[in-house]
Amino acid sequence: MEKKQFQAESKRLLELMINSIYSQKEVFLRELISNASDAIDKIYYRALTDESLTFEKDNYYIKIESNKEKRTLRIIDTGVGMTKEELENNLGTIAKSGSLAFKSEHELEEDYDIIGQFGVGFYSAFMVADVVTVISKPLDSEEAYKWESKGADGYTIEPFEREQIGTEITLQLKENTDDESYDEYLDEYRLQEIIKKYSDFIRYPIKMDVTVQQPKEGEDNEFEEHVEEQIVNSMVPIWRKNRNELKTEDYEQFYNEKHYGFDKPLKHIHIHADGMVRYQAILYIPETKPFDYYTQEYEKGLELYANSVLIMNKCAELLPDHFSFVKGMVDSEDLSLNISREMLQHDRQLNIIAKNINRRIKNELLQLLKNEREQYEKFYEAFGRQLKYGVYSEFGANKDDLQDLIMFYSSKEKKQVTLEEYVSRMPEEQKYIYYATGDSYDRIEKLPQTEVVAEEGYEILYFTEDIDEFAIKVLMNYDEKEFRSVSSGDLGIDSDEEEKTETESKEHEQLFEKMKELLAEKVKDVRASKRLRSHPVCLSSDGEVTIEMEKVLSAMPDNQNVKAEKILEINVEHDVFQSLQSAFDSDKDKFNLYTNILYNQALLIEGLQVQDPVEFTNDICKVLV
Ligand code: ADP
Repeated sequence: MEKKQFQAESKRLLELMINSIYSQKEVFLRELISNASDAIDKIYYRALTDESLTFEKDNYYIKIESNKEKRTLRIIDTGVGMTKEELENNLGTIAKSGSLAFKSEHELEEDYDIIGQFGVGFYSAFMVADVVTVISKPLDSEEAYKWESKGADGYTIEPFEREQIGTEITLQLKENTDDESYDEYLDEYRLQEIIKKYSDFIRYPIKMDVTVQQPKEGEDNEFEEHVEEQIVNSMVPIWRKNRNELKTEDYEQFYNEKHYGFDKPLKHIHIHADGMVRYQAILYIPETKPFDYYTQEYEKGLELYANSVLIMNKCAELLPDHFSFVKGMVDSEDLSLNISREMLQHDRQLNIIAKNINRRIKNELLQLLKNEREQYEKFYEAFGRQLKYGVYSEFGANKDDLQDLIMFYSSKEKKQVTLEEYVSRMPEEQKYIYYATGDSYDRIEKLPQTEVVAEEGYEILYFTEDIDEFAIKVLMNYDEKEFRSVSSGDLGIDSDEEEKTETESKEHEQLFEKMKELLAEKVKDVRASKRLRSHPVCLSSDGEVTIEMEKVLSAMPDNQNVKAEKILEINVEHDVFQSLQSAFDSDKDKFNLYTNILYNQALLIEGLQVQDPVEFTNDICKVLV
């Protein structure tokens, strides 16, 4: 007999289970039954491609046995079983890292269903048992093994005699305590209740010995008890059931059981499609984002079943990237069971299903936006960024699908608004959809560049995420209205003002020329501003690349050194300009100094870095003394 230690992470997880304060300990049974069902699926799937195997439906089942005297509960399955290595690898380690990091992040929320979320399902047995014994004989080997663990100390493994292929898990239940009774997991009625609740749709029979009352032969009104083996679950998968037979709780239950997420789903979509391709699907829009959602690790995809047999855990082809947050499953009787990964991309049926699903999700989200605004805002908080990426990616191929789903913060409403809402409120003379970019709403609010647009009474959309401006560049316009940055050269406002600033620029031409000379390389031009009211200076940009885009692009790893063409705008009505003017007339050094200070101020306001902060502070000191 070999004695081994658990891998460190598993050990911590196990300790967590053993000391679990989790209130729904009963879910351990759901976890073990689900593993058993997966193990039978594996044989079934093998038999489809392996001629030497035949799958006799009647030979495959899961059995639950309780023994009140010994206080043991046993879960037996006729699935693929595990080899010695598999017992060690599957039950001694946690496949997916990050599970514990996740747990500590959510430490405070005690009722979290982390169990199984990360493939920790089997360990949940330790919530109710002191000793867990797994005896397994694999399909591909003659040798059976016994694995046993009393908890975090480690486990033993040794050869064992077993005829039947499959796995048998025995739980030695914990002693009852003042607050907790473990005896309930021996009670046949309670067990049936738990199975019905969580595992009713499991495709294989879950058998149990149950006590039934029978009329005594020959005697009226007299009954006798006897025990018979019964199938406890209905075996109809939930997605095959009629929508009106099901309650929201049923869908939530399934979401949980499948570990699609640790939250409650925000919405579910149940599809029975009878068109060109027949399929059923249950899709979920989650409420919160998985901890790894915006990372490389996150894998999108739906479970794919062919005729109710699971053939793929995460079929990425079924979901477009912009809806990668959707969870759920698809089952089609028109799909070939041994479809390979390579074939998937070209599979006509699958493409039709994917298109359909895309449309359904879009419509569901539009409905949510229309009818349950608050819920939509919650959703958007988590996944809005992904939708905006969706507008931008593939050169805008999906922008028509997504443009009505994206929202931006509005200067007027002080909350996220849709483009449709913005455009519907536009006064007739307003030409453009205005936006301003910055790190936060507060900072944008104070940007000098917003002054003139705000003064006109126009609504401004605040862009705080990197993707925002890129997305609308791809979108180009909404309802035929173009987007315009408040920092752009042409704001399309009030032509009087325009003429005035042009004469002003002419009037002060020499001064501006001199400044331009001093700031050569740094700015493309210096002009009188038509957008400033209370501030002396700001930066704007000419051309396609805005200052905000320059910031985003220069932060990227493959920095291509793309620069915005910057314009330094001066408010000639501001008192500061008078000082500038008199310095220009009489004191060359002072004019130099003022030019540099004003330019650096404009950079700071824009959230850009001052190239030489020491020089800048020295310059300010010179003015102060
Ligand atoms: P998950 O089921 O999420 O992968 P578990 O900790 O529940 O995580 O199980 C780990 C692995 O152990 C499973 O993926 C499976 O390979 C194996 N396993 C568990 N129970 C059984 C079983 N009854 N029969 C065969 N293999 C099993």
